[in-house]
Amino acid sequence: MGQVVLIASVRYPERCSGCGSELECVGVQALVGESLEWDISYHCSGCGDALYECGPGGSSVPDDLRRRLLAEHGEARLVLSDPRASSVPVMKVLRAELGGDPARTKRTLQQIRAGLFAGTMPETTLLAHRLRAAGVEAEVECPKQPDEAPAGQLAADLGVRTARRT
Ligand SMILES: [Zn+2]
Repeated sequence: MGQVVLIASVRYPERCSGCGSELECVGVQALVGESLEWDISYHCSGCGDALYECGPGGSSVPDDLRRRLLAEHGEARLVLSDPRASSVPVMKVLRAELGGDPARTKRTLQQIRAGLFAGTMPETTLLAHRLRAAGVEAEVECPKQPDEAPAGQLAADLGVRTARRT
């Protein structure tokens, strides 16, 4: 059983690929246990056409979905609680999680120290988990509180309850 830690979701209008009518598409990025997953789905009440796409892995989240999530929820910033934290364990985690060469890892570290490193809540929350597991105190700052969750929208509700209030 996967353990759901955090879900970010967004609803947006889309055209049915079956009949062309306008419908509501739901995109989700979730931090499940220690991995990032995403899915996009809709069901057309007109022609019965349905779409369900999903995938694991933070790097494979579709750009379009990622942009929508950032526009809807804002960018969550990754912050090192101790500004004097040693760079070595941080860079080790960044290298393992984000890949890239040492120069890029160093730039990412500088971005984090400058408070400029941001992403979706599930992405930055996972990085904060990994950093804490490596002994580095890290937090995620959510720049804007999600709006009131519409009734029955469990995903957004979860997002509100797990979001840090800063
Ligand atoms: Zn349709």
